[in-house]
Amino acid sequence: MLPYFYEKCANPASSMHADGRKAAEAVQAARQQVAASIGAEPSEIIFTSGATESNNLAILGAASASSCGRRRILAGAIEHKSVVVPCWSLLKQGFDVEIIPVADDGRIDLNALTDMLDENTFLVTVQAVNNEIGTIQPVSEVCEIAHASGALLHCDAAQALGRIGIHVGDWGADLLSLSGHKCYGPKGIGSLYIRGGARRAPLQSIVHGGGQEFDVRSGTLNVPGIVGLGAAAEFAERDRRSDSERIGRLRDRFERQVISSIPTARRNGATAARVAGNSSLTLPGIEAEALIARLGDVHCSTGAACTAGALEPSHVLSAIGLTRAEAYSTVRVGIGRFNTEDDVSYAASRLVRTVERLSRIPTPAKTRSPSEHAVGQGTPTRHGTAGREI
Ligand SMILES: *Cc1c(COP(=O)(O)O)cnc(C)c1O
Repeated sequence: MLPYFYEKCANPASSMHADGRKAAEAVQAARQQVAASIGAEPSEIIFTSGATESNNLAILGAASASSCGRRRILAGAIEHKSVVVPCWSLLKQGFDVEIIPVADDGRIDLNALTDMLDENTFLVTVQAVNNEIGTIQPVSEVCEIAHASGALLHCDAAQALGRIGIHVGDWGADLLSLSGHKCYGPKGIGSLYIRGGARRAPLQSIVHGGGQEFDVRSGTLNVPGIVGLGAAAEFAERDRRSDSERIGRLRDRFERQVISSIPTARRNGATAARVAGNSSLTLPGIEAEALIARLGDVHCSTGAACTAGALEPSHVLSAIGLTRAEAYSTVRVGIGRFNTEDDVSYAASRLVRTVERLSRIPTPAKTRSPSEHAVGQGTPTRHGTAGREI
């Protein structure tokens, strides 16, 4: 990425000069890398500021393209806020928004989906991998059901790249969102896959201007970010199998170590297929926020890092049947590419010790200072004075 901040900082839209053309070539190479990582054509990829924007574009863009036709959208019950909130805004505009229920392990209820679909549905939006409990959705089955009613399928795959194989052709997705920083790439960059190419997109753009990105998403391109996303996507897919295998072993070891000392601990989503690096643990009787504030250099979180400061329990945990109290007793631990066995056993024993200490306090103190609430979100980091990536 570095040369594209300074030495090669030309605007890729400036095709009149050589530097602009070089920047455009770098963007094109990254488009190829992103496309290859999900089995798409380069012309089917547009760059955005992240999966939040991609999800908004897919949902709001498909809704405006269909505004005089179908008026119904179906969304999974444990979608990310960047899918949920655009759906709420469609509800306010008079669209019919329905939530597809999930089972206790987080998997989409395919029978419910089949019953809910009708010829008025323009879009079904279902994520590939959940960001809180790691559950993998049966995207190709969801696609098949959606297409049978003539609806498009959008898949939020922000958590999937590098964790499960994504093949847009095999899956049948019409729209698919990716995020740079969820696969060790930079923040503030993402992409949207559009089946058949952006030019024939079944979408209306939501950011209007100079017509960049095949006229679907205007704005000067973030060249360093795009180059970073391209590299991250290539590495993510290249290392996916070996990473998942190794990280899965670390996760299982972490959970074994915790559960052997805290037998009341429960693993959320663990009966479904879930990605290797995720561990969502409910620790009955323990206030998760108090626990996390006392974990020191072990960084983990409660619900989604993206809904920081939320007072409500996670809608994901509620949707899989956890009570309010159980949701407030749930921690989400991420294990990543740079973690070692030592990290994992350190984190598990620190977690266990802290839980034991908290269990001895009869009523949790209600007067913590605000700074104690500030916890890291577990961003992948190679050299962390900020703590180990756990
Ligand atoms: C992080 C995340 C997003 C949002 O991605 P940004 O690039 O941070 O905007 C969307 N969906 C899921 C499942 C995520 O985990």
